Amino acid sequence: MIRKGEDYLKSIKVNHPVTYYEGEIVEDVTEHPAFKIPVHTVAKYYDLHWDEEYKKYLRVYNPDVGEETSISFLRPRNKNDLAKLRDGLIKIYDFYRGFFGRSPDYLNVWNTVFYAHAEDYFGKNFGSKFMENMIEIYKEATKNDLFYTHAIVAPMYDRSRPPSQWEDPYIQVGIVEEKPEGVIVRGASMISTAGPYAEMLWYLPNIRRDTDPRYALYFSIPANTKGVKFLSRRGFQPREGGEFEYPISSKLDESDAILIFDNVLVPWDRIIFFKKPELIEDLMWHTVNLRGWFNWHFVIQHYSRLKFLAGLAMAITEAAGTNVFVNVQEKIGEILLYVALNEAALYASVDHAEELPNITRPNPYIAISASNFNMYTVPRANEILRLIAAGSSIPIPAGIKDFENPEERRLIDKYMSMKGLNALDRIKLFNLLWDVIGSETGMRYEQYDRFSRGDPTLRWAQTYTEVFKDRKHEFVKLVKDILDQMPNPKA
Ligand SMILES: Cc1cc2nc3c(=O)[nH]c(=O)nc-3n(C[C@H](O)[C@H](O)[C@H](O)COP(=O)(O)OP(=O)(O)OC[C@H]3O[C@@H](n4cnc5c(N)ncnc54)[C@H](O)[C@@H]3O)c2cc1C
Repeated sequence: MIRKGEDYLKSIKVNHPVTYYEGEIVEDVTEHPAFKIPVHTVAKYYDLHWDEEYKKYLRVYNPDVGEETSISFLRPRNKNDLAKLRDGLIKIYDFYRGFFGRSPDYLNVWNTVFYAHAEDYFGKNFGSKFMENMIEIYKEATKNDLFYTHAIVAPMYDRSRPPSQWEDPYIQVGIVEEKPEGVIVRGASMISTAGPYAEMLWYLPNIRRDTDPRYALYFSIPANTKGVKFLSRRGFQPREGGEFEYPISSKLDESDAILIFDNVLVPWDRIIFFKKPELIEDLMWHTVNLRGWFNWHFVIQHYSRLKFLAGLAMAITEAAGTNVFVNVQEKIGEILLYVALNEAALYASVDHAEELPNITRPNPYIAISASNFNMYTVPRANEILRLIAAGSSIPIPAGIKDFENPEERRLIDKYMSMKGLNALDRIKLFNLLWDVIGSETGMRYEQYDRFSRGDPTLRWAQTYTEVFKDRKHEFVKLVKDILDQMPNPKA
């Protein structure tokens, strides 16, 4: 099934989870000032599937469910399917200009990947019941076109000790009791973006192989299940309207929340991974290769963003005449190098895809390396924008009403224009710039760009310790062969 925006709005108006905001439980997320912006952007995502320009990229006949679905639910069977998935996702993120990374497609792809490995990972390791659970969860998500959020990371209570040694062992989500109808879980997860307006949630902790088994479970439940609670951060929505002053915040601000399980009953048929933490690496790096998949999705998001940031840098410097300076050209060139490398990574990851019996997946070396690299490139592109715009990014008249006073308008028109832009277009452009590099939404995205796939230090280190582990000998041999050809002393 492919829903329309209005279907999602109707559903979430009634089925939204419990979210606390400024001391109250949110009654209607579709109207609440802190949530209505992302809620309507999610609705727009669904509507894109019905838009003439987009539908040929976003709709596909899905043989796994025997009906048309979003491309984001397609299980790629060959490189051609994978290229279609890539191009569909690029179309979505070009629309978002690389923002709004927790759009429904993000977890649709996870659902599809888990479904593809229902038998050879979940069934093989946990038994046929868990395999069937995953198959049903995929079918339910696909046939109803459901919107999922997810939560992975334990609260930052004390990173120097495992959660089982914390003063309260149920700060991280853990199993409290196993019952015939399911397990009772208690605890919290640090961030769930989009939680307050999601219909479903995945809890899938980033455990280590030696984690206490009580923390080792993955499950999917409706976000409005009894006992599920979200504590939302402040909305970064601009004052009423705001499309002129904050063109990104007013359309593409996502919401982030702490997810709490307050003694929640998780039925057995919603669990897919249970109490075997030693199997986590096979899920992350090998059989399922979840890391390869979600990093690939991020490369798509950041490829769209970098193209947008390159355009912003060009528009600003060409209007101000600073594009004639070689140091400015060098910096714009730097952003374009990142664009080109991401484009290359997206094509190469499909050309060198891994064709497995049940799914064809993007080349993980390329996907993970490019995504790790973007933990640097995207914040660097923002920094470049700050450097080339210099002081001009700051003194912009407060709002659209400044244009309504004729005398002020005369002054604005005279003194706020640029060589290449009239004052109105210049102010629009610089409002857009500020919303990317300076507003709360802009700064939140920069934090997201660095940390959303994990801490950059650990991820860059893992490029060596995990990602390229299997190819270590290939590289070291290039050195060893020379060493072997070098003469040894006679005695
Ligand atoms: C805007 C935003 C949205 C997000 N949305 C989601 C979401 O929807 N769902 C979700 O599950 N997660 C989400 N995340 C969370 C994200 O997954 C985590 O931020 C990420 O995994 C990094 O973990 P951390 O923030 O706990 O930092 P940590 O990994 O704890 O790192 C904190 C600091 O300590 C250092 N450090 C920590 N451990 C070690 C170690 N073992 N050795 C050396 N140094 C160490 C790091 O280098 C870093 O400087 C989001 C994050 C952001 C910023």
